Amino acid sequence: METISLSAAPPETISPDLRCKILIIGGGAGGISVAAALKRQRPDLDIVVVDPSERHFYQPGWTLVGAGVKTPASTMRLEKNVIPKGVRWLQTDAASFVPDANLVRLGNGQIIAYDYLVVAPGLKLEWDKVEGLRETLGRNNVCSNYTFETASYTFECVKAFKGGTAVFTQPPMPIKCAGAPQKVLYMTADYLRRHKRLADTRLEFCLAGDVLFGVPFFVPILQKTMQDYGANVNFKHTLTAVDGPGRKAFFKVVDSEGKTSEKIITFDMLHVTPPQGPVDVLRVSPLANEAGWLDVDPQTLRHKTYANVFGIGDAMGTTNAKTAAAVRMQVPVVVGNLLAALDGKEMKQVYDGYGACPLTVAYGKIVLAEFLYGGKVAPSFPLDPRVPSRFSWFLKTQVMPMLYWHQMLGGYKFDVGHRERTYSS
Ligand SMILES: Cc1cc2nc3c(=O)[nH]c(=O)nc-3n(C[C@H](O)[C@H](O)[C@H](O)COP(=O)(O)OP(=O)(O)OC[C@H]3O[C@@H](n4cnc5c(N)ncnc54)[C@H](O)[C@@H]3O)c2cc1C
Repeated sequence: METISLSAAPPETISPDLRCKILIIGGGAGGISVAAALKRQRPDLDIVVVDPSERHFYQPGWTLVGAGVKTPASTMRLEKNVIPKGVRWLQTDAASFVPDANLVRLGNGQIIAYDYLVVAPGLKLEWDKVEGLRETLGRNNVCSNYTFETASYTFECVKAFKGGTAVFTQPPMPIKCAGAPQKVLYMTADYLRRHKRLADTRLEFCLAGDVLFGVPFFVPILQKTMQDYGANVNFKHTLTAVDGPGRKAFFKVVDSEGKTSEKIITFDMLHVTPPQGPVDVLRVSPLANEAGWLDVDPQTLRHKTYANVFGIGDAMGTTNAKTAAAVRMQVPVVVGNLLAALDGKEMKQVYDGYGACPLTVAYGKIVLAEFLYGGKVAPSFPLDPRVPSRFSWFLKTQVMPMLYWHQMLGGYKFDVGHRERTYSS
């Protein structure tokens, strides 16, 4: 592990502009929302956000970009325009964490000192874990909704698809938005059905795991949706390599006795959800758990070892779904507990593990899965969430993007009051 010699950079030699009360690493959904909410509650707080990216993305919109419902531009703002007023932005990355000295070394060579740290760098898309993927992504009918640059190519592939085999992959968990790999299959299948091409299509959903969705309550409706589209669900299939020009996808398959073999599927369209893991700077740091994720208490979101460190979003090693919906409910917890710690008071905010996945089962229809730690079903509305709903489609396509840009990134809390509910089977 890389360390910083404190004798080489003692905190007292750090200039005032590289000291701050609160340092936030990552200016994505979590980092900006926390910065804005803190500023709203304490306008005088000295806050620095570190993020190298010129652009800020509303990633939940990419499923809709891949289905031709939204434009890529509608999912992007310049980072400088989402940095809350009065917050300083350093456009560089965090290169290493030194929590014992309350320091972060930055990619530009500077060292910044903090009193409190919020770790929000999201996660890493590991394209190179699949041989040949990076070279062919965005070409040869190999697409992915997982980046701003490639999401619109998904819809190009769908429109150009004249029948044949369409393959959709899902890597091992955890990934962000665990429903996204199957959402793209449903949208593609519905599009092909509406354009009378579904009958000529073989749909293959190949997932590394052995369950269709992590919350059992929603599995029957998703299985039924797969059946209705005639899709084959292939468990324990991990994509290992892609030959784009040859239109071949290579999978490692594990059978019921644990034996592995290789399977090759020739495709006419391949949608890849890349393997995902913790960002390197976190993985090798003292802030990480054994798997490399941020080691926070799942209720308070405070680091288990470093009392002045909090986390938010996809970087955390908590068991909630890695979604922007989860971030939305984590913000008041992080902000409340951080301010309590700063004031020397008891931390009272508790995160219940809320996460949500709007499963786009067809154009105009969504199964809105909302749940807590332990897979407890916790809808915001008194409707059976297993029933595909036009109202949820309206929420996803119209309401949520607006709330994201204006409420969440503005530091306002919004929650219609999700709660645990039970339903007959
Ligand atoms: C295809 C797709 C569909 C999705 N659908 C949904 C959905 O329907 N509903 C939903 O709620 N969620 C959805 N999500 C998930 C959601 O977008 C993420 O969970 C959310 O953005 C996580 O927020 P975050 O702040 O943790 O990470 P991000 O928003 O990814 O932000 C991380 C930030 O950290 C910065 N960063 C990275 N490394 C460093 C470093 N070393 N130093 C400084 N900064 C760094 C990055 O530049 C980035 O700006 C979807 C995601 C995808 C990709």
